[in-house]
Amino acid sequence: MITVEQATEYVAQYASPNVPQSVPLEDALNQFLAEDIFSDLDVPSNDQSLVDGYAVRAADFSQRVHREKGVACSVQLEVVEEVTAGNVPAFRVESGRAVRVMTGVRVPDGADAVVMVEESSWQQEAGLPLGVAHFNTCEVVAGQNIMPRATSVRYGQLVLSCGKRIRPAEIAVLAQVGRTDVRVFRRPRVAVLPTGNELIDGGFVPGPGKIRNTNGPMLAACGKQLDADVLDLGIGRDEPEQLRNLIERGLSADVLVLSGGVSAGTLDLVPAVLEELKVRQVFHKVNMKPGKPLWFGVGNGNKDNANNDDRSTLVFGLPGNPVSSFVCFHLFVRPAIRRLSGQAAGEVGVPKCSALLAQPFEVAADRTTYHPARIDWSETGPTLTPVLWHGSGDSRGLVDANALAIFPEGTGYYEAGQRIFCHPLD
Ligand code: AMP
Ligand code: MG
Repeated sequence: MITVEQATEYVAQYASPNVPQSVPLEDALNQFLAEDIFSDLDVPSNDQSLVDGYAVRAADFSQRVHREKGVACSVQLEVVEEVTAGNVPAFRVESGRAVRVMTGVRVPDGADAVVMVEESSWQQEAGLPLGVAHFNTCEVVAGQNIMPRATSVRYGQLVLSCGKRIRPAEIAVLAQVGRTDVRVFRRPRVAVLPTGNELIDGGFVPGPGKIRNTNGPMLAACGKQLDADVLDLGIGRDEPEQLRNLIERGLSADVLVLSGGVSAGTLDLVPAVLEELKVRQVFHKVNMKPGKPLWFGVGNGNKDNANNDDRSTLVFGLPGNPVSSFVCFHLFVRPAIRRLSGQAAGEVGVPKCSALLAQPFEVAADRTTYHPARIDWSETGPTLTPVLWHGSGDSRGLVDANALAIFPEGTGYYEAGQRIFCHPLD
């Protein structure tokens, strides 16, 4: 049986980014850039005031200081102009003069510092239409409160790289460099098909032998959380003809996620039907708990010629038990969807961190176990508490968890305080 690492490697070999397409900036959130972005301007475009205040010559302060003991220093400068946001200075600042500037405006020629308005007071004076500013500070150094031109971004500079996820911060930078649309990788289409004769839809009370379909809604939600376009195929029965029809529809997607029907039961028909439909098996069964029966293969191509985008379909047959399905989605389907979405290959790995075990813990050591756990972020570092969980059928236990604790094969007993690896879930 292959290991989780080997299975991860196999999936990665078959997952590559979808074709790029152009979208309006307002639709680009959470998608992945399919182009490098360069700046079309300097930011700021000029030496810029960082505060509301007075643009001055620093030398006027060192020369005019009254340094007598006990006397507060005071400097007075004639105000020759006021520059508000959206306007540019018309005058040069000569010695003995100041220009009132607002945050963000260009610093006038001749000035080399800006003094905050809070460190001054203003007085009217006959013959001087804009009055006189009195400063109650002498600590003025050249460059203060000025952001030099192009400090943040230089014209032609690479500001965002292909493969980067577009968050609100990236939207800000794209807007800043003038982009109203942007090339991103097409969002993956993910078809979801839970299978099983025991399954009924959520709106009904289960009769004898029946259970509500929880995997369908859960896996659709997992796909939506990754910003995929989800195609809900309804419930597949353990019956070859109907299963074949539904799987055929699912093969039009980039990713087909099935649940159930991949173990050793007499009605576990999924691998055989997939084979019939020329979906080539890459692996079946992974040495992990829960999730051992996982099946992965590659379909023929989803023939989406409208997008000139004829790709193969990645097919995941997840085990039927809900937590098995969840864990397999998180470990294998999620990185595949991320890669199709355009995330850089080196970055699609499932996030992993370590934490100190909050209490002693025992597991069966036969396979690497992914146990739902709660990670608590304290000031002294994260701790990990495995939640009360009754195995792969216990979805309720998963609700208390925000991580999957990883207990490697071979070790059965763990002490409190031991460092454990885990995958944070949110
Ligand atoms: P299977 O892998 O088809 O043998 O399914 C194993 C077990 O998982 C079944 O006995 C069900 O209890 C459970 N199961 C399968 N599919 C679902 C589903 N869609 N929702 C909830 N439980 C399921
Ligand atoms: Mg079944």
